[in-house]
This record gives sequence, structure tokens and C-alpha cells, in this order.
Amino acid sequence: MGMMAKAQYQEIARKIRYSTDALIDGKMVRSLSGNTFTSYNPATGVKLTEIASCGAADVDLAVAAARKAFQDGRWSGKTPVQRKEILFKFCGLIRANHDELAVLEALDSGKPIRDTAQIDVAETANCIAWHAEAADKLEDQMTAAGSNIVSMIVREPIGVVGAILPWNFPMMMAGWKLGPILATGNSVVVKPAQLTSLTMLRMAELAMEAGIPEGVLNVVPGSGKNVGEVIALHPDIDLITFTGSTVVGRTLLENSGKSNLKRVLLELGGKNPCVVMPNVADLDTAAEEAAMAAFWNMGENCSANSRIIVHKDIRDRFLEKFIEKTKDWTVGDPLDPQYKLGAIIEKPHMESILKEIAIAGKEGARLVYGGNRILQETGGYFIEPTIFDNVTADMTLAKKEIFGPVVAVMTCGNEEEAVRMANDTEYGLHASIWSDDVHQAHRMARAIRAGTISVNCFSEGDMTTPFGGFKQSGFFSRDKSLWANRQYTELKTIWMTVR
Ligand code: NAD
Repeated sequence: MGMMAKAQYQEIARKIRYSTDALIDGKMVRSLSGNTFTSYNPATGVKLTEIASCGAADVDLAVAAARKAFQDGRWSGKTPVQRKEILFKFCGLIRANHDELAVLEALDSGKPIRDTAQIDVAETANCIAWHAEAADKLEDQMTAAGSNIVSMIVREPIGVVGAILPWNFPMMMAGWKLGPILATGNSVVVKPAQLTSLTMLRMAELAMEAGIPEGVLNVVPGSGKNVGEVIALHPDIDLITFTGSTVVGRTLLENSGKSNLKRVLLELGGKNPCVVMPNVADLDTAAEEAAMAAFWNMGENCSANSRIIVHKDIRDRFLEKFIEKTKDWTVGDPLDPQYKLGAIIEKPHMESILKEIAIAGKEGARLVYGGNRILQETGGYFIEPTIFDNVTADMTLAKKEIFGPVVAVMTCGNEEEAVRMANDTEYGLHASIWSDDVHQAHRMARAIRAGTISVNCFSEGDMTTPFGGFKQSGFFSRDKSLWANRQYTELKTIWMTVR
């Protein structure tokens, strides 16, 4: 999709109307308490609007509406093709409102317009459409039990799903969850991240316009404590699907255990390695993609390659090229299409990234690029892409997910050590391998414990491939692909004797 000029995006921003109410039982409503929370623009620190701040009573209403809708079959009882047609209308409306949604996402999250206008909005619509298209492609099974037995394995929607979303890809994560949840006939209560609720609330209005029946999709904005935890403990929610931090993911498992043993699907953090072996002829491409893998979305990306493990024989050459390529990752006003990077999500998160930068220096890592807060005069929260060299396994920077534009460069001596270092983490979401030896690349792809391995590129795959984490990067969950549709269904065996 072509880009418009900064002035045109600013004009859209000036005219934008914010959707600030919860969606419960088909109606956009204030919270029962009347409470609101403030949404700020991270690029200016200026208030955007006030949003309904929901609590337990609002969640109860949303869950009751979702349950009623599920039971009476207004969505769960439709044929997959009927659901598909309505979801296609929903996608059509997202596409029809593309520019407004792209600007809204940039204002609310600090993401650069060149991403929201070229990736996030289109990918959200494409994702929902892909899962809708798959709705009538999932087949049930019959087993070979004998001629007087009809032995069927069928899949049924799981019921009422609670979807708790993060702030780093607000629309896209909503799409990754809503596509398969709705395509398979469930009802859902969505809690957007408090820092980025606006695009989800606008999508809620579009969903109603598209004809998704009342009560099937509910959106309850609010805090992790007042809404997220209530969803996690709710006795009438059948499954929670979550993308966010490992810390909160753990509490969801505990709260499932304390309540109704609801299913829990977790997409969590990462400390993802990018391994560069000495036989790589095209080091320019490796350096260019490694910079993208580290800094895209301000490094606020669960699959960001935040540990570069480079072979000692090419370390100096690679580092020089990597620093050069990092200079392309310019930082500035998110509404200006010339910038590849926008603002950090909020002041406390910016401060925590700056603290980790200071710790890395104190622990002996060598700062070779960036390291500072910049553009302070804007009132916004901007940090330069930052590269530390000479990082060793014992340093905090080698272990902790910083979730910002900070990368650790580490050195390995051979393939075995590279694999050991890549696996030396509690996480296992993604890894990139750079090697021109196909045998080595495949050996390493098998040996590294992560849900997605990209070879000679940085990629999370596409809609056809599952995305999720090994180890503490996830819990059973896979977004995208037919695996995502399946995980929002329960298996049922029907065993019938025929006389
Ligand atoms: P977070 O865990 O702080 O918040 C995620 C959501 O959980 C928010 O909606 C928040 O309000 C809610 N929440 C907070 N406390 C809660 C509680 N006690 N009970 C229930 N809900 C609660 O995460 P974040 O800061 O929004 O997102 C960043 C994290 O997400 C990073 O760790 C990143 O790696 C991870 N992430 C993972 C993936 C993936 O697919 N694996 C994708 C994107 C982001």
C-alpha cells in the first residue's frame, strides 16, 4: 500500500473521532461505575481521550451476554459459511477504514505510520479473512471401529473465550485471536491493553456494523487488575487466550487453577538469538536483516532478535556492517512516513529500557551505538537504536527481555557453542540462523529450541505457519495457521452402535 504525506496523516489525526466505550451485548456503553482512564500519545505525552474503565460488574455483563449468545446458537449455530460471510464483511470494513485505523494505531501506540499503514491494518484484515476462509475447511474424522459402529471425532467451539491483549501490536494481536475464535463459532470477551485500547474499540464498532450478532463479541477496556484478573478468575469463561509477559502469563495459569480450570493459551516473551556463521558470503544482507530483527517496532517485539551470536572469524566485519545498517533505523514523529521507528509505548517503559542500558554498561558490555533518550523536546518517549558489544552469558543483557531497541552482540567459536549459547535462555520463541552450508543450517534449525526458526532471513513465517513459543515463551498456544483454529475447539467422540 502506498504511503501518503505526513500532512495528510496529520489531517486525519486532527479529524479523528475516538471510540471510547466498552462493547457489551451489542451496545457501546460506558462502564457501570462511570470511571474512565486516560489514553496518551506516547510521541507527545499529550492526552488523547478518556476511555471507559471497566470492572468486575462490566465483565460479568459481558460474560453473561457471551454465554447467552453461545447457548442460543445465534453464532455458534450458524454454518461455517454463514460465519465466513459476516467475517468477510468485517474485514471489508477494516479495509474501508484503513487510513483512519492506521493513524489511530500510530497515535495510540507510538508505532510508525509506515508500519501501521503498510503492515498492521492490512495484516489484521487479512488474518481474520484467512481464518474465516478456513472455517469450512476443517474436517472431522471417523475411525475404523467396525461396520456396526459409527465412531466420530468431531470438533466443537469451546464456548466463551476471554482474550487478553498486549500493547505492542494492538490490532494485529486482536486479529490473530479474533479470526480463529470467531471463525470456529465461539463467543468472546476481549480485554485490550490499557495503553492501546482505541483501535480495538473502533474495530468493535465495525464488527457490529458488519453484522456479528449482539453478545458474540464483547470488548471490555480497563486495567489488568480490574478486568484481566477478573476474566482469569471468572467461573463462566471456558478458555483464556493471552499474549503478553511471562510474569502475567504465570498468574493466568494460577487463576485458572483457582477457578474453573479454564483452558489457558499463552504467547509470552522472548530473548531471541540471531546466529551468524563464518561461511555467510552475503554479510550485507545478514547485517541488514539482523538490524531489522533487532529494531523493528522499536524492539517492542516478542520475536525481536535481541542476542546476536556471531562467529569470532567474522565478528569485526559483521559488527561494522551491522552498525552501518542500524543507521537506517531512523527515529522520529510516528506520523511522518520517513521514519522507521516511532516512540516507546510509555514513560515508565522508556525509563526501564534506559535503566537496562545503564546496567549493561556497568556490567562491562561495550556500548558501540546509541544508548540515549532523544527528541525530548517533543514531550515524547524516544530511544535510539542501541548496540552493545562484548556481551557475555552472565550479563543481564544476555538474559532479560528488555523489550526495547537494545541488542547484545556476543561471540561464538564454533557451531556447537553457537547452539549452546542460542539455547542458553529460559525463552524459546524465535531464532534466526545465517549459514551458507545447508547441512549446518538444518542441523542448527533442529538443535535450537524455539517455535519459529528463520534461516538466512528474519521472518515469523506467514498466515499458513503456526507461531508460538517453546519453554517459557508460551503455553500450548499457536497463533496463525489451522492450528490456531483447532485450539479454540474441543474434541468430542461420538460412539454410536447401529442395529
Ligand atoms: P503484559 O503482560 O504486561 O500485559 C498484557 C495484557 O495483560 C494487558 O492487557 C494487561 O492489562 C493484562 N494484564 C496485566 N496484569 C494482568 C493480570 N494480573 N491478570 C490478567 N491480565 C493482566 O504485557 P505487555 O507489556 O502488554 O506486552 C509485552 C509482552 O508481551 C512482552 O513480554 C512480549 O514478549 C509479549 N508478547 C508476546 C508475543 C507472542 O506472540 N509470544 C507477542 C507480542 C508480545
